[in-house]
Amino acid sequence: MYTKLICWIGCSWILLLTACTTTPSEKNKRPTIVTTTGMLADAARSIMGETADVIALMGPGVDPHMYKATEGDLQKLTSADVIIYNGLHLEGKMSEVLHALEKKNPSVYAFTNGIPSTKWRVLDATAQIYDPHVWFDVALWNEGVKALTVFLITKFPSDSVAIQRRSLDYQNQLDQLHVRILRQLDSIPVAQRVLITAHDAFGYFGQAYHIEVRGLQGISTVADFGLNDVSQLVQYITSRKIKAVFIESSISEQSIRAVVEGCTAKGHPITIGGTLYSDAMGSAGTPAGTYIGMVEHNVHTICQALR
Ligand SMILES: [Zn+2]
Repeated sequence: MYTKLICWIGCSWILLLTACTTTPSEKNKRPTIVTTTGMLADAARSIMGETADVIALMGPGVDPHMYKATEGDLQKLTSADVIIYNGLHLEGKMSEVLHALEKKNPSVYAFTNGIPSTKWRVLDATAQIYDPHVWFDVALWNEGVKALTVFLITKFPSDSVAIQRRSLDYQNQLDQLHVRILRQLDSIPVAQRVLITAHDAFGYFGQAYHIEVRGLQGISTVADFGLNDVSQLVQYITSRKIKAVFIESSISEQSIRAVVEGCTAKGHPITIGGTLYSDAMGSAGTPAGTYIGMVEHNVHTICQALR
């Protein structure tokens, strides 16, 4: 596997730098858009409708921070007409290759570059490290969708009117979702508005919807959590009398279970409030299999457990 990865990184440079150069619309052939995450695929599908084949490399339950590209991915990327990735180092091991491609190939697009950098959450100003989980502030995601629309129009100008129409419809749905979330979270008493999850995916969510957020692991899942992290979080939960913590669909339950056990041992029994979709959507065909459905599932789960 390691050899394959080295080969992927080595060979992929040459192959991918020459990818995305075929004419997208050979007769009777729909263009192919390849995205890294499901959330990006959902945005591209909403904007392009039936006029493009949209493929996400990372399926349900996949952790993008830890993701290693496969040979099948390389084939998809080399035959893509357009590649869309999140950026801000969400894609872990693939980030450097994707970033280098974006600099050289105009058909490769980093979604977060469409959001003003002043709105990125700063994690380390000196090292210029920013929080990549932008999809959990729906208004911010919507800004990215608008910029992505402009990009897709430049790639498919003959479809510009329909692209604009579909995008405006999607943007309306996102506007409504944003207002709904604000209203729903208002039903949680202020003292209980604390969201505890396995890793720090919900920083933008907390900032946008006025809920305090704590993750056991940092922004990336690459670094393991330690006993010290668990005991600090247990201390915090017991002092704040928090009722529930949450599992994430793309991360092992082990870390959050350690927190639950720690709280029980301290005489503060705490429940698992449910599973949240953090870095990946649910399965296709289920309510959480779309971006809007995924966010709605999370908000409903959080409200049920905390109010
Ligand atoms: Zn994450």
